[in-house]
Amino acid sequence: MAKTTTHGINQPSVETILTHTGRHPEQQFGFVNTPVYRGSTILFGTLEELESTKPRYDYGRTGNPSASSVSDLVTVLEGAAGTVLCPSGLSAISTALLSVVQAGDHILITDTAYSPTRRFSDSVLARLGVTVEYYDPRLAGGVAALVTEKTRVIFVESPGSLTFEMQDLRAIVAAAQKSGAYVIVDNSWATPLYHRPLEHGADLVVHAGTKMFVGHSDAMFGTVSASPRAWKALQETHRAMGTCASPDDIFLAARGLRTLALRMERHGAQSVELATWLETQPGVRAVYHPALPSHPDHAIYKRDFSGSGSLFAFLLDPAPRERLAAMLDGLSLFGMGWSWGGYESLLLPIYPQKTRTAVPWHTEGNMLRIHVGLEGVEDLRADLAAGLERYRG
Ligand SMILES: *Cc1c(COP(=O)(O)O)cnc(C)c1O
Repeated sequence: MAKTTTHGINQPSVETILTHTGRHPEQQFGFVNTPVYRGSTILFGTLEELESTKPRYDYGRTGNPSASSVSDLVTVLEGAAGTVLCPSGLSAISTALLSVVQAGDHILITDTAYSPTRRFSDSVLARLGVTVEYYDPRLAGGVAALVTEKTRVIFVESPGSLTFEMQDLRAIVAAAQKSGAYVIVDNSWATPLYHRPLEHGADLVVHAGTKMFVGHSDAMFGTVSASPRAWKALQETHRAMGTCASPDDIFLAARGLRTLALRMERHGAQSVELATWLETQPGVRAVYHPALPSHPDHAIYKRDFSGSGSLFAFLLDPAPRERLAAMLDGLSLFGMGWSWGGYESLLLPIYPQKTRTAVPWHTEGNMLRIHVGLEGVEDLRADLAAGLERYRG
């Protein structure tokens, strides 16, 4: 019989887990990969099976072998009690939040949260009677001063979207204990390869699977993994809301995950290389990349993360919009588009001052966010160098 599990191997490496976990060829005529189980209706042979209280699968929305293959894998990667799959990263975020909040609760969200996380909280959660407060991502243990007996959630994203501040997760977990709050972490940047928030005491970990898990810019996908204390409510909420992921998109996530370690290694190395180079370029005022020793939160990165993501930002000297357009419109390799995590590089202007509320963001000049893809790094550097040249005019 095909060997498809990691049983009997003492502490398999993450590469081995990515390669083997969640596949069951012996149940699929020996085919290596779990096929796309596309379907709503599942047939039962007998009345007893139909009315059994614990069928493995009963209806397309509530699970199928394609979904189990990926949720089992992400559960092992995050060291979780269980994982639910969602049709997008944002859906994973809203599912995680809704699994723990109720009317009258107070929640704390990092000021650097992905802006749709803010929009969901400020609109839907606020309407349901939840008080939403944003905190300085660098508060660390100081967040305890904001925790009241009503505080139900502390939402962490580290490094944060756009500006890449790191958060002291251990200190935040300790502060959360004051009210028994759930700590939710958006771990999309590092992936479970480089950071495992549940090991630091978080309760729920969210991934925009659209990004690094899928890895090829061809599907929308999200996951939420839970600690034992958060798992039951997460599972029930996910089931009640009906936010299931498409089997085709799950298949693309499964395919992407098999090569996640290789891709992350290359994305991370090339992103550090380009960030280091950018720091030396005339006209570059600042580079916001936590893996660089110059980053103010580099110590937290060194302590809690074992590798770098693909994404960072940098700030250019002020220049008119035409110069920015000349830089961006003339790029040959970097694409301009929302999202990140695919094999191809992206570069676009960002405006953190438009979303921040707890700690207003003041910088002069144009800020850009870069996703470093898998192209040859020399070619990417040349494309950027020519772009900077056009920017300087
Ligand atoms: C893109 C992104 C999300 C949302 O994922 P979608 O699949 O686009 O809904 C959440 N968090 C972070 C940090 C992201 O970059």
